[in-house]
Amino acid sequence: MDVKVFGVVGGGTMGNGIVHVAAQSGFQVILCEVDEALCKKALATIDKNLQRGVDKGKMGAEEKSAILGRIKTTTRLEDLAEADIVVEAVVENFDVKKAIFQKLDASCKASAVLASNTSSISITKLAATTRRPGRVIGMHFMNPVPVMQLVEVIRGIATEDAVLEDVMALSKTMGKVPVEVNDYPGFVSNRVLMPMINEAVYCLMEGVGTPEAIDTVMKLGMNHPMGPLTLADLIGLDTCLFILNVLHEGLGDPKYRPCPLLVKMVDAGFLGRKTGRGFYKY
Ligand code: NAD
Repeated sequence: MDVKVFGVVGGGTMGNGIVHVAAQSGFQVILCEVDEALCKKALATIDKNLQRGVDKGKMGAEEKSAILGRIKTTTRLEDLAEADIVVEAVVENFDVKKAIFQKLDASCKASAVLASNTSSISITKLAATTRRPGRVIGMHFMNPVPVMQLVEVIRGIATEDAVLEDVMALSKTMGKVPVEVNDYPGFVSNRVLMPMINEAVYCLMEGVGTPEAIDTVMKLGMNHPMGPLTLADLIGLDTCLFILNVLHEGLGDPKYRPCPLLVKMVDAGFLGRKTGRGFYKY
């Protein structure tokens, strides 16, 4: 796959990071957002993040302008028609993603690869909503995208070998380390991470330890950079619960049952850092 034009749909937390890294890798990037104000907001975030690199002496002001110069924005999905690959990074909702994939399928060239940054939605199911299931794949970047090395590359049941190879190579061109996984609920990242977080919440609920004790055991004992409850607060407890429900329903195994304390905290609106209160207060 010869990528010249790199499309991104959604310029929020993940989308603006993907645009940043794609433009920094030399691609012409087109970002599609819902309105002009959100296009500007995404560009302002990328500008601010690039400026940090300039201030630290990691890049020159000219390089920063060149990177920004490679980014165009639009509010029309049809403007992604020339893209060689489009990465979708909109809200985690199947119906919203399905509508976008169907529109992209209708307007993008037949050779274009359609990728999703989804954390939990089946790539196979998204692919089946298009006429090109072989050219649909998951590119699961980690937050913050410019900093984190991993891209979990998710192969749907119909994804063609050549598409997988192209996306693995593209991820490397973007300075990332791609890891190939197959499409099952939670892929590998959340299949392993979320049960650990859930178990930490059970430990708290059953009084095995305080939040500080649980996090310190995992940090100092297992060499994790942050404890599971601190990490859950950072991810958002609503997102953790959502993904646990995907694992529970998708795999049908009671071992994925979300901890009642996690459910109660989400019901209370204690969602972590973003609401000022989770397992800790902020
Ligand atoms: P976000 O809410 O920060 O951003 C989503 C953006 O999509 C918003 O700016 C919204 O305006 C835009 N959008 C919605 N509908 C659109 C449409 N029809 N056309 C164009 N733009 C549209 O969400 P996020 O945290 O960036 O998550 C995006 C995706 O990445 C989700 O699928 C999520 O599961 C996944 N993900 C998130 C993280 C994370 O840590 N936040 C990590 C890995 C993967």
